[in-house]
Amino acid sequence: DIGRLAESMGLNAYLVGGVVRDILMQNTNMDIDIVVEGDAPALAKRFAAMKKAKVSEHFKFKTAVVIFRDGFRVDFATSRTEYYTNPASAPEVENASIRNDLYRRDFSINAMAVKLTGDDFGLLLDFFGGQKDIIDKKIRVLHSLSFVDDPSRCLRGVRFAVRYGFAVGPHTEKLLKHAVSLKLLERVVGQRMYLELKYILSEDSYVDALLMMKKYDMLKFFHEKLAIDDFKLDRFAVLKKINGWYSFQFEDKLELWISRFCILFADLNRQEMKRLASRFEITGRLYDELADTFYKFKHAVWQVRRLKDVKASAITGIFEGMKTEAVTAAVAVLGQEYEWLLKEYLTVYRFVTPSVDGNDLKSMGIPPSGIYGEILKEIKRAKLDHEISSKEEELDLAER
Ligand code: ATP
Repeated sequence: DIGRLAESMGLNAYLVGGVVRDILMQNTNMDIDIVVEGDAPALAKRFAAMKKAKVSEHFKFKTAVVIFRDGFRVDFATSRTEYYTNPASAPEVENASIRNDLYRRDFSINAMAVKLTGDDFGLLLDFFGGQKDIIDKKIRVLHSLSFVDDPSRCLRGVRFAVRYGFAVGPHTEKLLKHAVSLKLLERVVGQRMYLELKYILSEDSYVDALLMMKKYDMLKFFHEKLAIDDFKLDRFAVLKKINGWYSFQFEDKLELWISRFCILFADLNRQEMKRLASRFEITGRLYDELADTFYKFKHAVWQVRRLKDVKASAITGIFEGMKTEAVTAAVAVLGQEYEWLLKEYLTVYRFVTPSVDGNDLKSMGIPPSGIYGEILKEIKRAKLDHEISSKEEELDLAER
């Protein structure tokens, strides 16, 4: 449809980037990227109208995204060449051929396109050897200044390498090491560093990525204290077991990167976490949420370690009000011997509530006041610790 529509508007359109790579590798990819030689937002608008989908346009970059009701999205960009007036600054945009558009991309495997218009519909454009690199399992940049143009590509390279089990090509590896020695990653803006780390931690093979970043001495660009040792690798292994159990047991999907983030930075104190957040330039609600999750995770580990008597009520008191991702991370840090506790908490404890309610207390003649909360809390505690089990016993306890 996009091709036909583009043709009717006299435009050339191409399927580009990750989706082409994933088609060739027979992987699924839900992000469709289209490059248009011409007015991409105009094509996007016509396509959205045809599909009764929403469209939003970015005037400055001549891009637009079409979003379907089920969340499926198609990105449209006007083909462009980048001129780097200053490395790490936003590229200027101008119309240019598809080859130039592909040349500004990060790796050969991401720099292929499929033509959607004209007689050669379906033609694969592979100017930089992407297919060969897929066969050879290589991550390769397109030119020697690639990491200088955009040092965040160092992190993207690691991500694609571990995701597909590819090696970094020898010349690209040399350039990568050089980029690290020049500390180019220091130039990457905070939000980009944060997003790239989030993407890496969202990969199934994130541990391999962390080990690869350790090998290339890249971890220090997140925080100078960041280290991956055997202890942390053990924690990640426990977390994997816990998450496997969780996804078998429950239907909701956890944001796995959050637990991994907590464990990765578990040794940082408040001051150091603040520094990390300022490196990431995260502020406002994003910061509040991340900091809240992280500090609750740290506090829970500390509190559980201090417990003399591991009672259900004590555990529930600690874990309640925490994101599940922070609870699983805390148990992974505490160690395998705490796994049963997590399972009890997630399957049983967290659902325990008193059978009696405010109305019951009122009909017992207890005057309504702040004390109701206290009574119900005490009933919940006693119920969790199996001191009482029936509603009569709850009423008895309320009476007392
Ligand atoms: P994923 O499967 O992780 O979404 P993707 O390849 O679709 O992978 P995106 O980050 O969505 O990744 O980028 C889409 C395309 O844009 C890439 O395939 C690549 O061609 C190009 N691209 C993205 N970021 C960069 C960058 N920093 N430098 C050069 N090209 C980039």
